[in-house]
Amino acid sequence: MEKLVIRNIGQILSGKMEAPIFDGDCLIALDGKIEAWGLEKDLNTEDATCIVDAHGVTLAPGLIDSHVHPVVGDYTPRQQQLHWIDSTLNGGVTTMISAGEVHMPGRPKDVIGLKAMSIAAQRWYENFRPSGVKVHAGAPVIEHGMVEEDFAELANAGVTYLGEVGLGSVKDGKTANQMVSWARKHGIQSTIHTGGPSIPGSGLIDADMVIETDTDVIGHINGGHSALPDDQIICLCETCTRQAFEIVHNGNERAAVLTVNTARELGKLGQVILGTDGPAGSGVQPLGILRMIAMLSAFGNVPAEIAFCFGNGNTARQRNLDVGLIEKGYCADFVLLDQAQHAPGKTMLDSVAQGNLPGVGMTIIDGVIRSERSRNTPPAQRLPERVL
Ligand SMILES: [Zn+2]
Repeated sequence: MEKLVIRNIGQILSGKMEAPIFDGDCLIALDGKIEAWGLEKDLNTEDATCIVDAHGVTLAPGLIDSHVHPVVGDYTPRQQQLHWIDSTLNGGVTTMISAGEVHMPGRPKDVIGLKAMSIAAQRWYENFRPSGVKVHAGAPVIEHGMVEEDFAELANAGVTYLGEVGLGSVKDGKTANQMVSWARKHGIQSTIHTGGPSIPGSGLIDADMVIETDTDVIGHINGGHSALPDDQIICLCETCTRQAFEIVHNGNERAAVLTVNTARELGKLGQVILGTDGPAGSGVQPLGILRMIAMLSAFGNVPAEIAFCFGNGNTARQRNLDVGLIEKGYCADFVLLDQAQHAPGKTMLDSVAQGNLPGVGMTIIDGVIRSERSRNTPPAQRLPERVL
């Protein structure tokens, strides 16, 4: 049995908005799953196969990017870039969710072709995790001509998420709602491209269409790139009681702050989740989720420990994942971070609340160390260290 012991933890962020900071200086994982946490003196640390001395830094569930556009392996043809997933791991992200493999050159748009590509993409990311990062891919973009049997077939083949509604030929709410309902019936979650067109070939989706389509996630509610007018964003926040409000790095930052302010006033911060929407026209964002956490904490008047929940626990709950929360039996996927060197603030969380990025010192996926001092974040004051 593989037994991971992480000791001398400064604080544990839980991913849970209702209790964002857990007491304890030690966490134990068995065979890649969280087993126990608390004070080291109260825990059984015998027979460890791997010991990490956290040297006082913060442990948090690994960050989740709710909105990526992968194609194959750790390469994106969109910006001809290699190793963007590895770079993102260095930004603390351990899980990514595809919103459609739309940058595949020659992407098939006929029904049998799009199904074949989705199933293949689901397989190639399941079979090969770049740098250990979990990429939930194989997200078909709905096209006219699909029938319920197509969604049943996709679900049976392992597809769990639809790509963004609106990036294919289905542009009307009635057809989109029918297909989203079929997807939901067969256990496939859905998202939608909210706002103006992203690149030539994509179109506008306004609040009326988002509400009519009734996807599980309001994809980039702050636009990707162009946001809806303020009154439509407020309308979505007021109307939608179940859907995730997904805020992305590639969107409009002012609209992102508007969304958080509105959600806070409505008592709906639990619906806020984060993505980057990369790779896209604006490139890839290895630190995108950390940057959103710092920006929303600083400008959205949200304590940093709550803003972190937007980037892990809220997404896990909205997306039905067994990561992103400190919970017994959940995957031992973590990011260890500390206040950046020479960044203002009394503590790491205070520094983030002032808009500064923390420094990532280590990532762990399924109980295995995947990266050590980040090559991308500002350097952390203290670094965790593997001692066994
Ligand atoms: Zn989009």
